[in-house]
Amino acid sequence: MTIKVSEKIQNNLVNLRQQLKILGEESSDKQPVELLAVSKKHSIDAVKAAAEADQVHFGENYVQEGVEKIQQLKAEGFNQLQWHFIGPLQSNKTKDVAEHFDWVQSIEREKIARRLNEQRPSDKPPLNVLLQVNIDDDDNKSGLSADDVENLARFVSNCENLKLRGLMTILKAGTSEQERRDSFSKMRQLYQQQQAVYGEQIDTLSMGMSGDMRQAVLEGANMVRIGTAIFGQRES
Ligand SMILES: *Cc1c(COP(=O)(O)O)cnc(C)c1O
Repeated sequence: MTIKVSEKIQNNLVNLRQQLKILGEESSDKQPVELLAVSKKHSIDAVKAAAEADQVHFGENYVQEGVEKIQQLKAEGFNQLQWHFIGPLQSNKTKDVAEHFDWVQSIEREKIARRLNEQRPSDKPPLNVLLQVNIDDDDNKSGLSADDVENLARFVSNCENLKLRGLMTILKAGTSEQERRDSFSKMRQLYQQQQAVYGEQIDTLSMGMSGDMRQAVLEGANMVRIGTAIFGQRES
């Protein structure tokens, strides 16, 4: 990777942090907003460039790609990074996720939660878990419906090796700004219901990507998941 590319990534991070600080202060909760750098389909060098600019949280969608990056970066001494699995998770891949990642944001089924709980190594802290909610009832998106959050949250909260931290959503594509705000606002209500039941351990509402980060933060997101605006376009 050329110096120019890594400088670009680092400048993007500085700009995003600044924007998030301002947006967080504009939002009604004045909450600080954590930036998750979504590094899927970007190189290890790109991750390193971000890590050298003090980026801690990274998101990956594909198990094998993610595990390779985690292992290589640990071998090179990047031990402080927190890795979030954010893609669809099949049951035959749960073991790798349980062994290598720090967070899973895409839990939508009891079966997956049960396997992660069983497969989490005992020498590691509990795996941090967000439930993925399909708030727009979009047929093309994974995630559970709002009505099912309560049951799955109860199940996860009883798993010794999982720690329920909150909720995640990906909105339907192509909706209006007002529709996006309404959906994010519904998420925030669900999140507050979870806080009322489980208290302070519920501290993460992950919503907003490069294209809808502003509305998400104004409606209460305290974690945004940003790929393109940090690393540039992905090759598909
Ligand atoms: C790819 C991805 C992102 C990042 O999307 P950008 O538009 O590149 O910012 C965020 N969340 C999830 C779940 C993703 O799969």
